[in-house]
Amino acid sequence: MGAYGRYELEYVRTDHNGTKIYHDNNCPHCAGYGSLEKWAYTGKVCFECGGTGLRPNPKVVKIYTDEHRAKLDAKKAERDAKRLAENPPPSQDELLARARETVLNVWESQGFNRDGSGFIHSGDTYPNRDAIYEGGGRWCRFMKAYIAPRPIDGLRGVKITTTNAEALCNQQGYIDIDKAFDLRGIL
Ligand SMILES: [Zn+2]
Repeated sequence: MGAYGRYELEYVRTDHNGTKIYHDNNCPHCAGYGSLEKWAYTGKVCFECGGTGLRPNPKVVKIYTDEHRAKLDAKKAERDAKRLAENPPPSQDELLARARETVLNVWESQGFNRDGSGFIHSGDTYPNRDAIYEGGGRWCRFMKAYIAPRPIDGLRGVKITTTNAEALCNQQGYIDIDKAFDLRGIL
């Protein structure tokens, strides 16, 4: 039974399951060597152990018998199965519903209604920006216009065009830049 470093594992005891307990005393930084030639540029002595090569507290290493290991594996499999039964993974339908919900939230955050409908407010929006924002309008930098969930009437110099998230957004729900640029040309 070899350790990864300079010092061999130190046998401590064997418990009632036959598990052998060892101490690994190697400093984790220098693997027990205390100083290494490759550190010549920064000072050869290990800063972690000060050159002793030893850990301040030994690391406990347990070596199980095959029999006890099999028991532990069986217990773990039992725990995993229980956890899975108590907390089953979401169904395909549920995953699709969640994905749809995410898209609707993205639409909403961009000024659309959850059914995808929306109203583009273009033209002289700057002097009307507060009223548009209060009406739920959200700025789309690709169209240089606002999208709002309903038409906001009575704004001077603002043109309102009906739109649809299905047509304007990508699959994730975000506005598609190319579609937005195309639309911007005809607003
Ligand atoms: Zn060290």
